[in-house]
Amino acid sequence: MSVTPAHLAVTRPSRLQPTLRLTFTLLALALVAVLLGQGAPAQAATNPAPSSTANVGPQLGWTEDTVYVQSDATSRWPVKTATERLSQGSPLRLVLVKTCPVRTSASQPAVQCISVTSGDLGGGTLAGTTRWTFAKSTNKLTTATTTLNDRWAKHASSADRLNIAEHELGHAVGLPHVKRKASIMDAYAHGRTKPDAGDLRALNERY
Ligand SMILES: [Zn+2]
Repeated sequence: MSVTPAHLAVTRPSRLQPTLRLTFTLLALALVAVLLGQGAPAQAATNPAPSSTANVGPQLGWTEDTVYVQSDATSRWPVKTATERLSQGSPLRLVLVKTCPVRTSASQPAVQCISVTSGDLGGGTLAGTTRWTFAKSTNKLTTATTTLNDRWAKHASSADRLNIAEHELGHAVGLPHVKRKASIMDAYAHGRTKPDAGDLRALNERY
């Protein structure tokens, strides 16, 4: 079964600094739903994480607070620091590992592991992408894969690279875009090197 990624593409020209376009891609959960026997029809989901409002159901996130991160990204990307910054101020714990733990029996909980890689995503303003799957019935994440753009990183400041690494990991733990320059989840990099109060609130809603 194929799934159709929904790209959020935004552009905003700037002469002062490279315009950074981040995209996040949401994989429709048809495959997951079928595997779980939910029988949900295939659909292209848009933003699965509603804003903080009463009676909206669980926010998108992993089931357990500890989530592993396997990074094969180049050293340009400060993935370790990003995991540390996202692990402060909420119960979420991102644990950087060389290799995702392996589930050895069906009785064990599913492995919660984010795969981070980097590569050439082109010479435009795309800094990184994150794709994930989740179970519709629970809004719980089942897989997440982040790809960071090495070509973009060559010309980015260290602050922006950290911003992007945190931003994409933010998607990988369930956070949607917000329109707030102080947030790591703003769709543009602004050299934000740690989550702001709103980001921490969003994490605490999930973990
Ligand atoms: Zn994004």
